[in-house]
Amino acid sequence: MSKAQLIDGKSLAARQRAAVAEAVTYLGKEHNLRPGLAVILVGDDPASQIYTRNKIKHTSAVGMKSLHKQLPVNTSHHELLSQITTLNDDPTVNGILVQLPLPDHIQPDMVIDHIDPRKDVDGFHPINAGALATGRATLTPCTPQGCVLLLKETLGNLEGAEAVVIGRSDIVGKPVAQMLLQENCTVTVTHSRSRNLPDLCRRGDIVIAAVGQPEMIRGTWLKPGATVIDVGINRVKNTSGDSKLVGDVAFDEAIAVAGAITPVPGGVGPMTIACLLSNCVRASCDQRGIPIPDLALTPR
Ligand code: NAP
Repeated sequence: MSKAQLIDGKSLAARQRAAVAEAVTYLGKEHNLRPGLAVILVGDDPASQIYTRNKIKHTSAVGMKSLHKQLPVNTSHHELLSQITTLNDDPTVNGILVQLPLPDHIQPDMVIDHIDPRKDVDGFHPINAGALATGRATLTPCTPQGCVLLLKETLGNLEGAEAVVIGRSDIVGKPVAQMLLQENCTVTVTHSRSRNLPDLCRRGDIVIAAVGQPEMIRGTWLKPGATVIDVGINRVKNTSGDSKLVGDVAFDEAIAVAGAITPVPGGVGPMTIACLLSNCVRASCDQRGIPIPDLALTPR
């Protein structure tokens, strides 16, 4: 039985970060600009702490200014909004990211709406989401950007491909569907009320799984040769009681059917941070009226 090609997100992300580091050096030399990214974490959720630590580490590693605000779990709505106002007004901060999920007493929509859309490097602000939906150049969500870059790296031109997106969140499913439409794919978006999900899934030359259900998408759901991007990150216990990370796709089954597939971990995850950094470069240039340097990936 032939095995699917593994799509190496780690190596593509490293190339993307190298392109960002080069752009940051150029902006410093030619425009005296050092892009700055502020990350706000409210509370002490262990997974969020790991994600923010990684973002901060990679921001500094590419030469950008990194600002970290750790706020206590009982931070009021008002206090969080006032911290964002300060960052909105700070010219040395070009990108603002509030780590999700937020504690229950804080409404994420109000927080996202309060970020200056030009500094919204997560691409979640309704102005940026609307611009993406209408096909305009804008700051777009990082994980979906990473999915599309992985697909282009694997398949080249995506035009005409049938793409099935499983999940319709504002963070992954909807924006990745918009981006695939812009790539001229024929896109089906599925969700928890979709009927005959395995049949819908089998239509996909491309399958993007973003459901948050461990190994839900089985090998039999895939068209032979399909390219599978597994966005899911689920921590599960194995038979010996140790925990491990798995995706939304049953990897061991899928690898025997798919043409190419991302591993979990090491697939989409590293691309999310790399795209966050490139968004911050874009945002900083846009704010200063500087042409955006070429962030195209260097050839392998
Ligand atoms: P989410 O907001 O919980 O959305 C999940 C989506 O999946 C919803 O649209 C839901 O449908 C759908 N869904 C749930 N159960 C389903 C089922 N049984 N059949 C069909 N559809 C189903 O999750 P998310 O934020 O998009 O994240 C999805 C996964 O990606 C999670 O594992 C998350 O940890 C991971 N993630 C990874 C990265 C990364 O950097 N790699 C970034 C973001 C997220 P309804 O809308 O009908 O409820």
